[in-house]
Amino acid sequence: MIEIAPDTAFLLYIGLMLLLLLGTWTYHLYRSSKRKLVLTEYELSVCEYCHFAYLATRGDKLSRCPQCKALNKEGR
Ligand SMILES: [Zn+2]
Repeated sequence: MIEIAPDTAFLLYIGLMLLLLLGTWTYHLYRSSKRKLVLTEYELSVCEYCHFAYLATRGDKLSRCPQCKALNKEGR
């Protein structure tokens, strides 16, 4: 059997744990970057004048509130 000093064994243990953490972190970053899906072409908007919630087409700069017919900016 291979004999190693306790401090060498400790350094090997710490190095292996750091490699495991780095691998897990890299794997998680890779998986979360591939998981960005656009499920619908609509996004939920809230009218800034009457606070009516409606679905606006994603990517449009302006959307018209179906209740008060006012124009709202994207992401409101
Ligand atoms: Zn409105």
